[in-house]
Amino acid sequence: MRYSVTDPKRQHARRQGIGMTSQRTRERLVEQLQVLGVQDPRVLAVMRSTARHLFLDEALAHRAYEDKSLPIGHNQTLSRPYTVARMSELLLASCSAKKVLEVGTGSGYQTCVLAQLVPRLFTMERIEPLLNRAKLRLEAMAIHNVIYRHGDGYEGWPDREPFDGIMVTAAPSQVPKALQWQLAEGGCMIIPVGDNEQHLVKITRSGNHFSKQKVEAANFVPLVTGTIG
Ligand code: SAH
Repeated sequence: MRYSVTDPKRQHARRQGIGMTSQRTRERLVEQLQVLGVQDPRVLAVMRSTARHLFLDEALAHRAYEDKSLPIGHNQTLSRPYTVARMSELLLASCSAKKVLEVGTGSGYQTCVLAQLVPRLFTMERIEPLLNRAKLRLEAMAIHNVIYRHGDGYEGWPDREPFDGIMVTAAPSQVPKALQWQLAEGGCMIIPVGDNEQHLVKITRSGNHFSKQKVEAANFVPLVTGTIG
């Protein structure tokens, strides 16, 4: 018997089918992350248990556990698992990360990983349909410690500052000043910076001083001004 695409039985069958193979493939992905240098056991545990295929269209779901960035529509991509894990690990190691702002919700995959690692997460996205879809997914996964906002990350989230940690998942040419000033004392920001050549940068606030440290090469879609939707 053939089911229609929206048939709940078919969706259940799909989840089960991918779910069974994905446990092994997820295990393999976590091994790969460790080989690449990801060490934080909390991050590895969340990467192991988080179903990345639920953040992709059905046609791409079978590739969910490859360490690759994949398209999510609107010319945007779901970040590579290594990048998600590495940025999460850096954030946890660099500041207290109790109240965190994520800029660039996208599919919601990084949001889902972070929400399992920090107590309070604020996430913002400039493309409204992406934000709405991510919100529905995370609610269906019973992730309830996230607050969502449609807006331009260059401006940050002035009503909710300060943030202990800020993670940006798209690359500006330079660190947005408004975002930097929304860090709490001792807070840290993990952000890819650059046009053709990008680097992941870690910024730490001490009073009115912001120390910057280049971490490693990066490859993100650009942080774009304005909103859509
Ligand atoms: N972490 C996401 C990656 C998405 S790609 C994931 O795992 O799926 C980067 C995202 O940043 C895109 O969805 C893009 O629309 C968004 N973005 C780009 N510029 C932005 C801005 N100024 N403010 C908010 N979001 C922005």
